[in-house]
Amino acid sequence: MSNYRIQGATGDWEVVIGLEVHAQVVSNSKLFSGAATAFGAEQNSQVSLVDAAMPGMLPVLNGECIRQAVRTGLAINAEINRWSRFDRKNYFYADLPQGYQISQLYHPLVGEGTILIDADEKAGIPEAKHIGVERIHVEQDAGKLMHDQHPTMSYVDLNRCGVALMEIVSRPDMRSPAEAGAYVRKLRALLRYVGSCDGNMEEGSMRADVNVSVRRPGEEFGTRTETKNVNSVRFVMATIEHEANRQVDVLEAGGKIVQETRLFDPDSGTTRSMRSKEDAHDYRYFPDPDLLPLVLTEEFIEECRASLPELPDAKRARYIEQLGISAYNADVLTAEAEMARWFEKVLDNGAEPKQASNWVMSELFGALNRLGKGIADSPVSPPQAAELLALVADGTLSGTLSKQVFEIMLDTGDSPAKIVEERGLKQTSDTGAIDAVIADILGNNADKVAQYKDGKEALFGFFVGQTMKAMGGKANPQVVNELLKKALNA
Ligand code: ADP
Ligand code: MG
Repeated sequence: MSNYRIQGATGDWEVVIGLEVHAQVVSNSKLFSGAATAFGAEQNSQVSLVDAAMPGMLPVLNGECIRQAVRTGLAINAEINRWSRFDRKNYFYADLPQGYQISQLYHPLVGEGTILIDADEKAGIPEAKHIGVERIHVEQDAGKLMHDQHPTMSYVDLNRCGVALMEIVSRPDMRSPAEAGAYVRKLRALLRYVGSCDGNMEEGSMRADVNVSVRRPGEEFGTRTETKNVNSVRFVMATIEHEANRQVDVLEAGGKIVQETRLFDPDSGTTRSMRSKEDAHDYRYFPDPDLLPLVLTEEFIEECRASLPELPDAKRARYIEQLGISAYNADVLTAEAEMARWFEKVLDNGAEPKQASNWVMSELFGALNRLGKGIADSPVSPPQAAELLALVADGTLSGTLSKQVFEIMLDTGDSPAKIVEERGLKQTSDTGAIDAVIADILGNNADKVAQYKDGKEALFGFFVGQTMKAMGGKANPQVVNELLKKALNA
């Protein structure tokens, strides 16, 4: 258990966190209309008559959105409800032409599931922990108001209006900002593996409502506040940090927490009150009379299940148990779907898993870091990486030479074989050539040879270094070692 506590003047407080994550469903068209969903399109260019709520227009459910939500539910081992229903959530706002949002309150598509957050000693999560997911329901997104286009008027862009969202509601199972951060990262990774949401928080395709309360350890849950639309992992953590401390201050001063909706301000790192929280009955929810209940067949659900890729927890276990990759490397390589796909392509091209994982973690990541690039823009492709690793495995390249070749690959995009050929970077195991160099070096350093023979064994490294240098780094280090030992002990 994590032991995150806030120390107040009157004793310790525990923080309780539940997250409602809105994830935009990957789908070419909207939840109930055929309008497109591409991000960044010209304002109001992707609005059908349904989205604009013209009188008499009827919603038609997009099966692909349901398929994606069911696949997401299966990926978190959740119950899939064979019978679900759409409800109208009524409210008035300029970004909502219908005057209601079609959502699912009473009978959501997906029921109870669970997400495993990994242990992370450094972040204060000593062991892996299951976070409950209460439900996933499917609903429409609203449009977007633009307040910065005109001095006295606001504009509205309805492109986002009617786009499908999954609302993924966690149990209040998290107890520290770090756990909440880990939960959002793991959920985002899962969505990307499944392909049901691109997880792009900067573009708003994933955002979190952060529910926070505090209590004395062991006591009942306290009153919570809900901070809306937080759009990065860092901001989720900052929201909790600030909000929990604010609540402790209020309570310790003898005040009460008001159940309310708050906003996070990234500039100050604080939250402020937006409005008192509405209850479900304020929205006058009722079943949408334009839509039939949604009934799923077993066959449909099994098709969804069969379409799932190997998911991160299973993949990591396989990397460790079957491929012999270290737990740390397996963690990193499976954390993102894109990373794992890249790595597995290297293996498909014949590389040995352990060698490949070590190379990716040190050489490739080092280079990408330096270049400020992600794996998707790696200048070296998986087949090229596999070719480089094969040249190391068969002794053509030493570790040092492989680093040189890799640098040239990054610069030129050439294949490793071509680089080795053109620049003569091949490692040599030619004992005649190496022996000749060794004889020279020992001859020119008679004093050091004598010291070595007197027991100053650390000088061995000096002789290796000199030999390698004289050979332009191209001598096989193992052969150099053997021949030097022979020559020195002669
Ligand atoms: P609503 O529908 O009014 O937003 P829910 O009961 O569905 O309320 O809960 C919404 C979110 O609030 C869930 O993620 C839940 O885990 C979280 N939550 C509920 N009670 C608390 C609490 N006391 N402290 C922190 N989070 C809470
Ligand atoms: Mg809510």
